[in-house]
Amino acid sequence: MTYGASDIRIEPSLVQTAMTNEAALWALRRTIAHEIGHAMSGHRFNTIAMQQVKELEADAKGIEYFKRLGWPCKLWVDNFARTLKRGYNSDAEHDTKARYDQAQQLCSTA
Ligand SMILES: [Zn+2]
Repeated sequence: MTYGASDIRIEPSLVQTAMTNEAALWALRRTIAHEIGHAMSGHRFNTIAMQQVKELEADAKGIEYFKRLGWPCKLWVDNFARTLKRGYNSDAEHDTKARYDQAQQLCSTA
């Protein structure tokens, strides 16, 4: 979660798990890219109403960072696809379908 424009917090357990396998390491990279996206967009979480738009904006930035780094953009699409498959479609904060659609769209363009 991002709490302020220059404040990024990552769950310690996510970092610990990332040291144990490659998939988790990529998940950590995705999370960091997404959180940097929030920070670079100056997001602060004060209203739920704006949350969804902010999530998409943070994803778009995160995906852009992955592309610039030469990292596989497809991991974002795959991750949302897995979440959708598990049935966690949407809640107020994270509408997975919208994020999946955006990731697919952004990853299909060079
Ligand atoms: Zn977010």
